[in-house]
Amino acid sequence: TVYYPEERLLRIGLVPMTMSGEEEPGLLLVMQDITAIRRLENMRSEFVANVSHELKTPVAAVKGFAETLLSGAMDDRDTAISFLTIINEESDRLNRLIGDILELSKIESRRSPLQFSPIDIPHFLNRMTELLYADAAKKSITLDVQSEPELFLEADEDRLGQMVMNLMQNGINYTPEGGMVKVRAEFVAGEDGEDSDIVRITVSDTGIGIPKKDMQRIFERFYRVDKARSRSSGGTGLGLSIVKHLVELHNGTIRVESTVGVGSRFIMELPMLHQ
Ligand code: ADP
Repeated sequence: TVYYPEERLLRIGLVPMTMSGEEEPGLLLVMQDITAIRRLENMRSEFVANVSHELKTPVAAVKGFAETLLSGAMDDRDTAISFLTIINEESDRLNRLIGDILELSKIESRRSPLQFSPIDIPHFLNRMTELLYADAAKKSITLDVQSEPELFLEADEDRLGQMVMNLMQNGINYTPEGGMVKVRAEFVAGEDGEDSDIVRITVSDTGIGIPKKDMQRIFERFYRVDKARSRSSGGTGLGLSIVKHLVELHNGTIRVESTVGVGSRFIMELPMLHQ
């Protein structure tokens, strides 16, 4: 294999062949551009390495604290309770991680096709708010959800739920106490000023914001701006990559705008009808 300009990778082979009318056999030079294949292979092995690393962290914590308990710490009740609490939390983290990894692999391999149906968005968003109300209340965060009336969208309801919940949950996680998470759903105006057939769902918060240099990378698997913060809020680092995949399966787009210390806004645009 050789490299040639623009960092592409070529595989070169020689195949013996006899040309018609020629006595001596010749050689056929075959060049195959394997850049895409190699890139995919690299991404795959990088993902496996990342997954192993992410899984090892909670397992090491569970093992470490269990061993310390067994070698005597159990005799002190307060220590035992605090170590068992950590073991319990780390097991939950492990469960979430495994769930998200399986989810991502299911989405990527297209093993579970989407089930499209018309969704009544105002009603749907109210349900999302009910599900997250307790989490928001714990941090005195206000959830402000508004939709245009009579807004319908053809989507896979469970997947749309995952997309919106993930964005709202992030809004809550990365917003300090007393802040606000807003959700808006509306038709995108077409060029003629009429409603187009695109629905925009925006989730914005008054949180910590995202530095410019990280903004494009947060949709990558396991990419976190601040690892410690993501861990303490129970994050797996996979939420946004799952959201992005699901948005693309709905033929939509997602982008982010953010200012550090002011807040972030995630903008999803989805076609109203699935063809
Ligand atoms: P995590 O489980 O770490 O939240 P995500 O894939 O959901 O993983 O998000 C990736 C990273 O993007 C987070 O770790 C965080 O640094 C950043 N992020 C996501 N949403 C927000 C937000 N609303 N405000 C600030 N940072 C965010």
